[in-house]
Amino acid sequence: MAYCPECEAAIEVEDDIEEGVTLDCPDCGAELEVVATNPIELNIISHGEEEDEEDESW
Ligand SMILES: [Zn+2]
Repeated sequence: MAYCPECEAAIEVEDDIEEGVTLDCPDCGAELEVVATNPIELNIISHGEEEDEEDESW
């Protein structure tokens, strides 16, 4: 179990998760990277507030 550094929600992660793996916080939608595994430490890559509408359609 790890905690989102953005909203502190508990995030289920596998016990054998590796550094460098990225996951999304189910609560706030932030993109997180595993930077340490013992204990598990997560780093915010991008915040989840903005909606995913960067379509590059211009
Ligand atoms: Zn979160």
